[in-house]
Amino acid sequence: MCGVFGVSLPPGSGTEAAAVASTGLFGLQHRGQESAGLAVSDGAEIFLYKDLGMIAQVLDDRRLPSFHGDLAIAHCRYSTTGSTIWENAQPTFRLGPRRAVAIGHNGNLVNTRELLSQLEGGRARLAATTDTELLTTLLADEQATDTVEALLQLLPRVRGAFALVILDKSRIIGLRDPHGFRPLVLGRIAEVAAATDAALWATEGARDGWVLSSETTGLDIIGAEYVRDVEPGEMVILESGREPRSVRFAAADPALCVFEMIYFARPDSYMEGRNLYEVRRRMGEQLAAEHPADTDLVMPVPDTGAPAAAGYAEASGIPFREGLVRNRYTGRTFIQPSQTLRHRGVTMKLNPLREVVRGKRLTVVDDSIVRGTTTKQIVALLRKAGAAEVHVRISAPPIFHPCFYGIDTQIATELIAATSSIDEIRDFIGADSLGYLSIKGVLAALDLPYDRFCFACFDGRYPEPVPYDSNRRKFMLEEPVPAHG
Ligand code: SF4
Repeated sequence: MCGVFGVSLPPGSGTEAAAVASTGLFGLQHRGQESAGLAVSDGAEIFLYKDLGMIAQVLDDRRLPSFHGDLAIAHCRYSTTGSTIWENAQPTFRLGPRRAVAIGHNGNLVNTRELLSQLEGGRARLAATTDTELLTTLLADEQATDTVEALLQLLPRVRGAFALVILDKSRIIGLRDPHGFRPLVLGRIAEVAAATDAALWATEGARDGWVLSSETTGLDIIGAEYVRDVEPGEMVILESGREPRSVRFAAADPALCVFEMIYFARPDSYMEGRNLYEVRRRMGEQLAAEHPADTDLVMPVPDTGAPAAAGYAEASGIPFREGLVRNRYTGRTFIQPSQTLRHRGVTMKLNPLREVVRGKRLTVVDDSIVRGTTTKQIVALLRKAGAAEVHVRISAPPIFHPCFYGIDTQIATELIAATSSIDEIRDFIGADSLGYLSIKGVLAALDLPYDRFCFACFDGRYPEPVPYDSNRRKFMLEEPVPAHG
């Protein structure tokens, strides 16, 4: 996943752009918790700070006053290429013969090996092991003096998923690959918004400005207004004190990741003109129609299963009840469980409400099963708490195929649906019954055509061809260089 954010404020905004960018990034924290970073330009120099950890740990108030400049980009990382090490945190930065650039990237390239072969000096020049580092170096090397021109030279050679925010000394460029696998929206900070919402410290006193954000939640948190989506194959150029400019670098062939709609993005986000809570609630309604269950309660797996569970309950007439409490402080952090705690797995995250669960027949709604191990633990937890029956319902189709476009799903052999029948999965997770929503059901809930989305992990129809050895891609830039080159 990853979250990317960019902001352009009028000249003379002091440290305001850094404050707005880091605050906006908080609205995207769910997209990546491994590292965070910020790059700011004052028109003459680019300043960069990044580190491993959550946004609050990395971009705290003590650091922000050093970041003067009207242009800022920010990034939070969920790794899909390269390990979780400091060097791989973003934004990346590269000083080339014609430009200095910093990049925040959401997505995953599929022709990294091919691009590496085009890099003068080869892998030894890379300071990090990510496809973003490679892209940044290639962009810094481009002959054209102007960054937009350089991108027009480079981008036709780049394939895969990339929603980027790029900072040079004088502008921010936000762009989406021709399929638009990953989202990016344009928003506006209007003077009136700042005046009416003084509680939002980041926008207090701010004048008009323009922002780019992976999701609308990044706009909401700073009080910015949604203007429009950045189109697939489009660059939007932000310069301090100017209206945005649009440059098309490729024809659009839309294929937004449908998993953004099902699970990844926040439910209060808007994508494709749809509120995602409402989309997910309708997926629950569809699921109830496709896979009814005769039970006493409908229960979500928190937090992401909640909207679909609400829809399932409404459509089935079965009461909705929360029976699992999530510990919000053991998310994806850098605290690795000790040997003693490792086997406890899901109990570190979820605790059942025994009074609710005991003696009840439950319909448990979640949004996906990847390996099946988490669902198995949840079912066992509920049975141990006294559930009479556990019927699992999934508000997405079975995942048969890996993702190559920026979601770190397992290689095909680790996906339980790729190697087991539905009955075998039901037996593995220990449920009384199991039902998945169909692709048709997802489309009915979206009320949008199939060809607007990527459904590849469900049906194997990859919008962008992937190389045969892509299963090894994540650590591709960390493998030993073959002796023959
Ligand atoms: S393969 Fe699946 S997770 Fe990856 S972009 Fe397509 S729909 Fe999304």
